[in-house]
Amino acid sequence: MKADCHIHAVLDGIDWKAALMRHAQIPDDGFIHKMLKTYQAQGYTYLRDGGDRWGAGFRARELAEDYGITYKTPGAPLCKAGHYGSFIGVCYSTINEYTQLVKKARTDGADFIKIMISGLMDFNWFGVLTEPALDGQWIRQLVHIAHEEGFSVMAHANGTEAVLPAAEAGVDSVEHGAYLHEEALWAMKEAKTVWVPTVSTVGNLRGKGRFDDRAVEQILESALENIHRYTQMGGLIAPGSDAGAWSVPHGCDTEEALLNRAGVSPEALQAGINGILQKF
Ligand SMILES: [Zn+2]
Repeated sequence: MKADCHIHAVLDGIDWKAALMRHAQIPDDGFIHKMLKTYQAQGYTYLRDGGDRWGAGFRARELAEDYGITYKTPGAPLCKAGHYGSFIGVCYSTINEYTQLVKKARTDGADFIKIMISGLMDFNWFGVLTEPALDGQWIRQLVHIAHEEGFSVMAHANGTEAVLPAAEAGVDSVEHGAYLHEEALWAMKEAKTVWVPTVSTVGNLRGKGRFDDRAVEQILESALENIHRYTQMGGLIAPGSDAGAWSVPHGCDTEEALLNRAGVSPEALQAGINGILQKF
């Protein structure tokens, strides 16, 4: 089956500020219909949203049925105040506030919880993240609380420092996952965590002139090496384009080709999709 396990209905791949404005009052049905039509035409039957606080993901889920698409969304991603993610998510400062937001997610009808626990890659500098990971003990609590409330957890996480504690706490999927050491990969494998590396967000930057191409190429190669390692270990990897991110339009199908290049067989990719379907 064709699945994209990480997209953002709220974003358009071109201009995130303009995209968010589009849905600021109420979600823009015209945009969402067009997006769903694009996925339908390409044979997608499952989409998993990375979240937004304007309800675009929820609206897409309502409309997706008519397109024969199963659509899952966390509602708003949950991010710690002062850290990456506040442009698209809802912030909390204390564990108690986080717990309240998890409970609210249930009332709102979220399918799962999305947590933001690290920064982004700096695409001009290989090996550099825009900020340090949240504290490891804190990360473990975030995962445990969401699990206790009966939710699966999708984690935006780059770097071993974010991914290791998340995997040790049994996080259900890791998104992006740049710069992982072997230790983090084994912890993910042990926890049966599905890795959604969203390498299109890196691969599609090549030759665009926005970032240093040498750095972009290095970041991509290191990601593909780790993907290769994880699939060799028997770890689950699922295709997720992060469509809506810059230079990744909806319906962009570069992800599978990149994962294939890293040595993920079509059968392994299907196993990864099955892992996502089971948990989400
Ligand atoms: Zn995303």
